[in-house]
Amino acid sequence: MRRLLLIALSAGIAGATPPGGQETPGGAGSPRVAGAAQGVATASISAEPGGPIAEPFALLGETISPGATRRLAWAGTEQFEGVSIDTPVLVAHGADPGPVLCLTAAVHGDELNGIEIVRRVLGHMEPGALNGTVVGVPIVNIQAFRDGSRYLPDRRDLNRHFPGSPGGSAASRIAHSLFTEVVQHCDALVDLHTGSFERINLPQLRADLSHAGVAALARGFGATVVVNSQPREGTLRAAATQAGIPTVTFEAGGPAQLEPDQIAHGVRGVHALLNTLGMVAQTRPWTDREATYVDSSWVRADRGGILMSAVELGKEVREGDVLGRLIDPITNKTTPIHSPSDGRVIGMARNQVLMPGFAAYHLGQQGQIPDDRLAPPMPDSTFSDTSE
Ligand SMILES: [Zn+2]
Repeated sequence: MRRLLLIALSAGIAGATPPGGQETPGGAGSPRVAGAAQGVATASISAEPGGPIAEPFALLGETISPGATRRLAWAGTEQFEGVSIDTPVLVAHGADPGPVLCLTAAVHGDELNGIEIVRRVLGHMEPGALNGTVVGVPIVNIQAFRDGSRYLPDRRDLNRHFPGSPGGSAASRIAHSLFTEVVQHCDALVDLHTGSFERINLPQLRADLSHAGVAALARGFGATVVVNSQPREGTLRAAATQAGIPTVTFEAGGPAQLEPDQIAHGVRGVHALLNTLGMVAQTRPWTDREATYVDSSWVRADRGGILMSAVELGKEVREGDVLGRLIDPITNKTTPIHSPSDGRVIGMARNQVLMPGFAAYHLGQQGQIPDDRLAPPMPDSTFSDTSE
């Protein structure tokens, strides 16, 4: 007999603005877990036989029956010639009630691993055995994706413009459309990214562990490194969390490639999260843990030249260890890059030609965080990442 599942999901942060009052296309508000939309502490899922049947789920002007999957279309922008560009939104609406977990990918158009993670998760979802709803937007930034670019055609970074505005820049309008038409229907969100500019990231969650709902999400992702960080203003993570929708960013691998190990980690992590949230039952849940890093910092190249790394992603390093070498291609002079502290390489540049100042190695520093769901508030991190 399945048990009654109680999850603490949406604790809301001080001063959070509830997302209420927004009209949705089609006029129908989406049925949600009671209380979750207002950012209160708990949402309950009954998985008892004979328990409540889920209500139909409304999104993007369509209504999805319990136990069904659908492919919807979100038109966030137009091409230059004025034709709207649809991007797919995949929905698996469970037979039993539960939270709405949303997955977004390719907010940066050259970050491909998340696209495949969303495809695999939604493609294998069995809505008849699902409590709640999974919504996947595999290619948020369709224009940048088509260009193979991180940025929109006007060189704006979409992930600096959330929650957006209907009368703002191109990026701001796209952000606003996604935020009001999809994101505000979610109870929790995982935004999928990779490193930027020829950098690769160890699979990791960026999470503000001072927020109870966010911490609960981060701890549910199986054996995945967690990096405590305050979200940067304008990111989807910041805007959604401020709107009462706990959000984490999952980073894995680098841009412009499909990396099987990174993708597999992400898929497994999302499945672990679905199990933790009581949305699916797993016979062998991923209960292993990885490290939580209270802080992180970048080691930058002080000279230009050819970077050849001496360490691998995920390696533990000690202060003074050689992380890599910068080679001057003209003089043949080699300059080592030393680690300024103990830590773990959670992100690094691929071997490439660098300019001075390029952020080459991202070191995670382990500190003391009580290993429970509700981490205490953390001071502002010195985290200064360029990838999210
Ligand atoms: Zn990104």
